[in-house]
Amino acid sequence: MQQYREIKSQHQDAILLFRMGDFYEMFYDDAETASRVLGLTLTARNNGGAADVPLAGVPVKALTEYLRRLVQRGYRVAICEQVEDPRLAVGIVRRAVVETVTPGAAFSDDLLDGTRNNFLCALHRAGTLTGIAAADLSTGELRLILAASPADVDSALARIAPSEVLVSRAANETHRAARAPSAREESALITERDAWEFDPSLARDELAKQFKLQSIEGLGIGADDDAAAGAAGALLRYLRELQPGGLPHLARPTIERPGTTMPLDEMTRRNLELVEPLQGGDDQSGTLLAVLDRTVTAMGARLLRQWILTPLTVRAQIDSRLSTVSAMAKDALARAAVRDALDGVRDVERLASKAAAGRATPRELGALGASLSRLPAVEDAARRVRSAGVVADLLTRWDGCADVSADIARTMVDRPPAALGDEASIRDGVDVELDELRAIQKGGKDLIADIQTKERARTGIASLKVGFNKVFGYFIEITNSNKHLVPTDYQRRQTLAGAERYVTPELKEYEERVLGASERIEARERLLFESTRARVGATIARLQCAAGIIAQLDVLAALAEVAEREGYARPELTDDFALEIIAGRHPVVERMMPREKFIPNDVTLTDDARMIILTGPNMAGKSTILRQVGLIQLLAQMGSFVPAARARLGVCDRVFTRVGASDNLARGQSTFMVEMSETSAILHTASRRSLVLLDEIGRGTSTYDGVSIAWAVSEYLHDAIKCKTMFATHYHELTQLSEELVSVRNYNVGVREVGDDVLFLHRLQPGGADRSYGIEVGRIAGLPKGVLRRARELLALLEGGQLVKRAGAGATPVRSDSSGVEQLPLFSAPAVPDPIRAELSSVDVNLLTPLEAMTLLAALVERARG
Ligand code: ATP
Repeated sequence: MQQYREIKSQHQDAILLFRMGDFYEMFYDDAETASRVLGLTLTARNNGGAADVPLAGVPVKALTEYLRRLVQRGYRVAICEQVEDPRLAVGIVRRAVVETVTPGAAFSDDLLDGTRNNFLCALHRAGTLTGIAAADLSTGELRLILAASPADVDSALARIAPSEVLVSRAANETHRAARAPSAREESALITERDAWEFDPSLARDELAKQFKLQSIEGLGIGADDDAAAGAAGALLRYLRELQPGGLPHLARPTIERPGTTMPLDEMTRRNLELVEPLQGGDDQSGTLLAVLDRTVTAMGARLLRQWILTPLTVRAQIDSRLSTVSAMAKDALARAAVRDALDGVRDVERLASKAAAGRATPRELGALGASLSRLPAVEDAARRVRSAGVVADLLTRWDGCADVSADIARTMVDRPPAALGDEASIRDGVDVELDELRAIQKGGKDLIADIQTKERARTGIASLKVGFNKVFGYFIEITNSNKHLVPTDYQRRQTLAGAERYVTPELKEYEERVLGASERIEARERLLFESTRARVGATIARLQCAAGIIAQLDVLAALAEVAEREGYARPELTDDFALEIIAGRHPVVERMMPREKFIPNDVTLTDDARMIILTGPNMAGKSTILRQVGLIQLLAQMGSFVPAARARLGVCDRVFTRVGASDNLARGQSTFMVEMSETSAILHTASRRSLVLLDEIGRGTSTYDGVSIAWAVSEYLHDAIKCKTMFATHYHELTQLSEELVSVRNYNVGVREVGDDVLFLHRLQPGGADRSYGIEVGRIAGLPKGVLRRARELLALLEGGQLVKRAGAGATPVRSDSSGVEQLPLFSAPAVPDPIRAELSSVDVNLLTPLEAMTLLAALVERARG
């Protein structure tokens, strides 16, 4: 317990799994937490002291499952092993924590999803910039992102989707006080660290040490990059703490500076359903990712997700990707060759990381070798792609790692087992000593087999059998009916229901030879396997580079495949302002319906027609058009072809999409509040080069408030920001904007009335709409007939300006020919001038005495009250 307490004192914030023989034990609070979370029985142990110590344990064999459950619930788990052989230990076995597993720092496949990264990141603010350092321990990736504003930090975090975020304790306290945590942080474990750990100069030493460099300039981290350095330093320090064995597999960092990629805020990412459905849940089929994901490797799947969430803003880079997609789209044979060659390549990136971290099993090393052996085919296929774009560049850096693959193939058997032990992992002929041991083992086994023949002859028992089990070793088995024939030199070992088991001195001798050899074989195999793994692990940088190239080839080929199959076209990106889409489609919605059923639409936004006010009936397809424009712009900027006949697009710095009203009760905000904060974020961050897509604003409040806000927001976007805007709305009043603002155009999505029915044409056409056909949609949705009839009546009254309120009788509408009623027009100013207002405007306050003012006020109040 003393040893336990010492170790626990260094791991206060983790659940400590303390290895004791075949169990990991937990004590005190850890035991209580674990028994609650894992449903383990809580027992007590008396250690000779006064009080019982609460205790709970898990079998060593079941560790992965329990670990998964604890970590997924957001716990940190420190694993304390026996670090010397108990048989050789003098006194208490030495123990040490060999690893701390947290949601952000996990290696085990059980804790990871192959198609997405698992990032742990650290945030540090220096000057006006915030640095985000993000590491994926399972792949060895390290990314540094510099963000210029809090909104950009949020969008970077939304994109990385870290499982754990490190922040300085002091900064976190201020931050907590300043605002509610963003949704992203809610799903991540926040780990507070001391402020000094983020110190940039310490960090520079830490980075230099990690990457064995004199100066970190070589990493692209300059003297001004304190924000990135500070974050990276804290991250490395924390990771080293979690992995005392070191981080040999961490790749050199890549740096992303503001302006090279498009920050996508969470609302846009969600509203456009880029990688996850708007409503949450497991069904991913309605996302852009699902449509695009024709990758064949896990590395490709992860990269595709990153590309979708990180559209580029540098035209040359986009064009380079597009050239490759174009070459692959045109050449079906080359594309198929690349995809075939990649198919069957396992997750080289994660397998290589495991090898470098000394964690790969024989089977995993074998899988890595088998995957690497496919690389020559991948290279051949890639060389068939005629493109000056990315592929050409990738091939100049190509390293097929043939030596590594040959090393594994030479050393490891074809199908290595999951663990060293019973089955062979290392080939015959690799090591003389191993071969000799195997010969001894085999010889012993042959001799034992001979005993069976020999003893059958000697005893005359035809059913005599030589067998083996783990507890008793080798034995001779004689059925009870032959027991009387057993020679006297047989020694009884075990009695079964129908038989007896014996040994002989000769059998014992051979057994020792076999078992002794087996033990030594295992030790020798371990040595050989570990040294192979270490040799492979030492080439980690090359393997990571190969994995990176594989991922890119896979994504580019997948994009080409989608382009071909779905009939996408190569977009033309320009440095101009204009957006011009001919026959554009919504990539996801079109897949939900039979081919050719989706109606394509043209959308053009130019400097002198930069704002479209989109009206039209419910269900007409307004939201669809809005989103499809956003998706087409994003697809183009990630380097993909787009669902359109033609698209000419000015590169945007951002795309904003505010769609509908979504409650965020979890964050304690009302629908309207969310709507307003999202709108306000757009107005504060959009620039002239942005594309703003608004689907309804101002709906969550009263009509007057709503229209006024929508109107003012439109004016601001048009006059002050001057960006490209599409605004879908049911406030038909907004169509009047086109009369006041020069660059506003009205469009509507048409319907045709056929008798009582409405036919949705889904076609965009110039001009504003005059009706919403909400009642028809209500009918399709199955509102009771009575309700529909009454709604039609009321609508007719409203449209005739006849909806009236009986004085003092609530809001029961009646016909205006009833007596004693006043008009209640919906949106125009009151038709009859208000007499009180008229009288007020004629008053000159300067000419009134105080007494006259009071009298006037009293009279007005009297009249207002009627
Ligand atoms: P509301 O005003 O009620 O929100 P809306 O005008 O925004 O409606 P959408 O949600 O965009 O309408 O579209 C409604 C449905 O119409 C879609 O789910 C889709 O099935 C279909 N639809 C939309 N656009 C098209 C199109 N271009 N071609 C074929 N079907 C379409």
